[in-house]
Amino acid sequence: VRTDRMEQTRRRIGVMGGTFDPVHHGHLVAASEAQSVFGLDEVVFVPTGRPWQKEGRDISDPEHRYLMTVIATAANPGFSVSRVDIDRPGKTYTTDTLRDLHAQHPDADLFFITGADALQSILTWLDSDVLFELAHFIGVTRPGHELDTEGLPPDGVTLIEVPAMTISSTDCRRRVAEDKPVWYLVPDGVVQYINKYGLYTGGDDDEDQPR
Ligand code: ATP
Ligand code: MG
Repeated sequence: VRTDRMEQTRRRIGVMGGTFDPVHHGHLVAASEAQSVFGLDEVVFVPTGRPWQKEGRDISDPEHRYLMTVIATAANPGFSVSRVDIDRPGKTYTTDTLRDLHAQHPDADLFFITGADALQSILTWLDSDVLFELAHFIGVTRPGHELDTEGLPPDGVTLIEVPAMTISSTDCRRRVAEDKPVWYLVPDGVVQYINKYGLYTGGDDDEDQPR
């Protein structure tokens, strides 16, 4: 009886990993929809440390990406932000992310939320078989990317439809660099943060530390 009750109280935690450079409404809608469909108690956003798949382009200071993610999620009591990846030295591997979160939440089941494009590359990730033991994977639709689960374990991945958001961080960065607005693509506080630190303008200010 006791274990039954304990089973029922296992928390369900969504994990939304990303570079979040910057975080935008596509991320937030995907997390919100996954939270609703899977009855997640909480969704933890985890900004990457040094994303090894993105080496070659300049990525904003992890503290900027962390703070923008905090600003974007602060008003939602069901959302939080974790520093596990940005505080771990070296490159970010999703297996490390999930192991660290398991250690912090030993009573929780983890659900890793990922867009169609990222899901596609899961099989190329290191230790992909181990990943499916650490979390259930939720693949969300993303405009312009086909959701294809071929080769993925069927019980390890669930695909869900989320309201289409044709927003990418790449596009937001390009828009800022071209002096076009990003209002309503990213949360208001993130627009103001980007302006405050002169992010994505291509100027020297990009390297400024948060103050
Ligand atoms: P970049 O253009 O720099 O790659 P991005 O917009 O793809 O940025 P990431 O930080 O790379 O954002 O993405 C984090 C996670 O969010 C990934 O799993 C990605 O597939 C998902 N995601 C990003 N944008 C969307 C969107 N518009 N709709 C659904 N999922 C998204
Ligand atoms: Mg991306």
